[in-house]
Amino acid sequence: MKTDIKSLYYPELENLITEAGFPKFRAKQVHLWLCKGVTEFEEMRNIPQGLIEFLRSSSYISVANIEKKLVSRYDKIVKYLFRFGDGEFVETVVMSYKHGYSICVSTQVGCKMGCTFCATGRSGFSRSLTASEILSQIESAQTDLGIRISNIVLMGMGEPLDNFDNVIRFLRLVSSEDGLNIGMRHITLSTCGIVPKIYELAKYKFALTLSVSLHAPDNETRSKTMPINKKYPIEELIKACRDYFEATGRRISFEYAMIDSVNDSDDCAHRLGNLLKGLNCHVNLIPVNSVRGTGYKKSRLDRQQAFVNILGKYSITATVRRTLGSDINASCGQLKRNYTENTGGK
Ligand code: SAH
Ligand code: SF4
Repeated sequence: MKTDIKSLYYPELENLITEAGFPKFRAKQVHLWLCKGVTEFEEMRNIPQGLIEFLRSSSYISVANIEKKLVSRYDKIVKYLFRFGDGEFVETVVMSYKHGYSICVSTQVGCKMGCTFCATGRSGFSRSLTASEILSQIESAQTDLGIRISNIVLMGMGEPLDNFDNVIRFLRLVSSEDGLNIGMRHITLSTCGIVPKIYELAKYKFALTLSVSLHAPDNETRSKTMPINKKYPIEELIKACRDYFEATGRRISFEYAMIDSVNDSDDCAHRLGNLLKGLNCHVNLIPVNSVRGTGYKKSRLDRQQAFVNILGKYSITATVRRTLGSDINASCGQLKRNYTENTGGK
């Protein structure tokens, strides 16, 4: 098994190189080349041939290759389908805002969680991504667009807390000063609610924003759309969120995809208000993106406004998020699903 060199922390890279008998300063040089985005060891021009050969035989540089790129006509959104060395694909979305560029990265090829409204969840699971494969999505997008990304959301394909160790490694690498140096305050990690992993994440006390995909105010409604709820019921999840806030001091963000006649009644809004009362949080209401085969429809506009008003009575701030890139299948997993169905590919 070759070493995934871009997933190494700097001291680990130094060990790899010094243990093979090369001087320490070579590690710094190799690291600089990797930061510049080289895709082959041969491109490292100031490195002696002996070290190049050692690296080539012992290690590999992981790359996210652009398989397909879509640019939205209506809003400033670019969506990529990236291909990795083994032929697997993931999706990545870049959004341009007034304050900079934000990227939505994938953490797994597919997802095991099986949420009924989600295109990724409906297409099954292949494998988890390595830390370098998550990083490479950002590097490839930056190089292709000639920009610097300032915010990252882990909201693409996959469940980040189901790929815990690689995601922690990615978070440390991407935020480190000698890496892309994107601070934790500019990172959001979204989870469907794997309770023990929320406790584990809390121990790291990262300054990132934890976003919890709630999508329902009670066990009966939630278990119908999110199978994970049968394993970790809603009261355990909310307890974990309260404890997470206690441990980190970071306000939790809840995602609530509004589905017509499924979770958007006044009664649901009141139950949600009671559930979250007193918790330092923010609720993002998202009109559900219709995914083929689900039969789910977006809630009407007046339902979204009713939710904002009712939650306000419980002193909970909620905003309706507009859906972006609707002309380029920008919702999680939709591009890959269309691409593979049309090409017969993986
Ligand atoms: N697995 C993680 C992160 C990836 S999904 C999670 O579930 O949180 C990113 C977000 O997109 C989640 O909030 C998810 O619930 C939401 N999502 C998935 N399919 C959607 C759809 N069809 N419409 C609206 N939101 C959707
Ligand atoms: Fe997986 Fe998140 Fe989709 Fe659920 S919503 S199936 S957890 S990617």
